[in-house]
Amino acid sequence: MTPLSERPHEAQPGKPSFPADWDIDTLRVNWREHLERIFRDEEIPIPVKRVIRQVEGSPVYQEILARWKDMKGDERLKNWKLLLEQSGKSLEEILPACMMCGECCRRGSPTLQLEDLELLKEGRLPWDQVYTLRRGQPVHSPFKNELSFLVDERMKVREKPGARECVFFDHATDQCLVYADRPAQCRAQACWDPTMAEDLSRQPYLTRRDVFADVELLLDLMAEHDRRCSFDSLKEAFDRLAAGGTEALDEILGLLAYEDHFRHFLGEQLKIPDESLDLVFGKSLADLVPLFGFQVVEEPDGTRCLVPDNGEASAAPGND
Ligand code: SF4
Repeated sequence: MTPLSERPHEAQPGKPSFPADWDIDTLRVNWREHLERIFRDEEIPIPVKRVIRQVEGSPVYQEILARWKDMKGDERLKNWKLLLEQSGKSLEEILPACMMCGECCRRGSPTLQLEDLELLKEGRLPWDQVYTLRRGQPVHSPFKNELSFLVDERMKVREKPGARECVFFDHATDQCLVYADRPAQCRAQACWDPTMAEDLSRQPYLTRRDVFADVELLLDLMAEHDRRCSFDSLKEAFDRLAAGGTEALDEILGLLAYEDHFRHFLGEQLKIPDESLDLVFGKSLADLVPLFGFQVVEEPDGTRCLVPDNGEASAAPGND
């Protein structure tokens, strides 16, 4: 990797080209843009925001910013070069500590491990912000940027609607709203050392069997739901539809109607709050239909039909 200090700074269109002419805001913006460009060009896997935080917290950066407005032309050029040098060093000596840049939280919410059950039982993580990804569902790996299908179920913290970002990530402050009680995966997520997360992934994941171990009836009903309304059966029907088998359309609508009835009937009978249905039965199949390029719409008379998805009904697969 070429040290940052050896790379010439490229002038930005419409901005002053010489450090001597920059005010503090322009210095800050040009430096960040310069770093972002390097990260893009060299496809550096560490989040750029993390390095920005590391450098911005360094005494060199703070001193340059504090003195910038009093510096003359040559001195500004010298200090701009020093700043690039410092950035290069930070890239080569990534501090083994979380800079709380929020990039992990933007890329996805955590999958829960068995050890996180205590957080839920003690009310430190709210149950209604957790949902289930059932076996067979597609998941996206935020760090490998790959799609795969789950061979076993997982439980996760919710994402924000239509996004991958964790529901507990606060944009206004770039902070985690449950930082002291964040799940194990968040604590192991170390962008400077992926082995911590890999070690954790060998520990048992939390499943509904752990959560509802004492409620045998519910375990039986969840197994029945998995058997009758699996993601695999939805996928098979959509594959047949894509291959021209129009009879698959009725099958899909029948499956969606059956599942809808199953969830809501049992929800009412067992007094499961609506916001916990995704935890007990996983995301509804209707919510997953956009993965196949369709969406479910309800006619005024209450009948449901499938229409091509115009991109508004986002069903981003959960992260693994
Ligand atoms: S729980 Fe907190 S630390 Fe974990 S991904 Fe969400 S916002 Fe980030």
